[in-house]
Amino acid sequence: MRVLIADHQLINHKLTYLRDKRTDSPTFRRLVEELVTLLAYEATRDVRVEPFEIETPVAPTTGIKLANPKPLVVPILRAGLGMLDGMVRILPSAEVGFLGMMRNEETLEAITYANRLPDDLSGRQCYVLDPMLATGGTLAMAIHYLVERGADDITAITLLSAPEGIAHVEREFAGLEVPVTLVTGAVDERLNEHGYIVPGLGDAGDRLYGLV
Ligand code: URA
Repeated sequence: MRVLIADHQLINHKLTYLRDKRTDSPTFRRLVEELVTLLAYEATRDVRVEPFEIETPVAPTTGIKLANPKPLVVPILRAGLGMLDGMVRILPSAEVGFLGMMRNEETLEAITYANRLPDDLSGRQCYVLDPMLATGGTLAMAIHYLVERGADDITAITLLSAPEGIAHVEREFAGLEVPVTLVTGAVDERLNEHGYIVPGLGDAGDRLYGLV
C-alpha cells in the first residue's frame, strides 16, 4: 500500500482544532469538510481523465475531462458520511456507494450492516472515506468488498491513522495486484486498549453527530 501523509501546516492547524475536546459539533463538521477537500486534492492527483477538445476565444485546444466510468466514492457509515460533501464538492460527477460498518467494541472486529455498492466495479477508481484508520479491520473489509466487485484502483482517505491500522492493511493486502493508496492527514502514536487512536480525537461519529 502506498501511504501519503499530508505534510501541510494548514492541515495540521485544522487537525489541532478537530482534536480539541472543546470543539463543538458544528465546528467539528465544518473542519472535517475542509480537511477532506484538502486531502482530496492529493488523493485525486491520478484520477483518470481523457482528452477533451474545446475552443477558447482565441484558439482550439485540447483539455481534459474525467474519464468514464466515473470514480466511485464510498463513505463508510456513520463517520465517513461527514466526509462526503467535501469530497463530492471537488468530484461532482462521481457516483456514491455506501458501506455501513461498525465495530464490536469488545472484539474490535468490523461488522457490516449495510452494503450498497454497484455489483460491477470493473475499471473503476474507488475512493473510500473514513475519518479514522484505527485497527484497520473496517478498511480491510471495505477493500475486500471493492476488490471482489472488480475495482482496479482504490484510494482510502482518512483524517487520522494509527500505525497498527496501517500495518494491518499492508499485511492483509501484501500480494494484491490492485493498487491501494492511503492518503491521511496524520499518523498518530498508537492505539489504546479500547482501540482508540492516541492522541486522536475521540469517537469521530459521536463528535460529528452526537451520542446516537
Ligand atoms: N474510531 C473513532 O472514531 N476514533 C478512534 O480513535 C478509533 C476508531
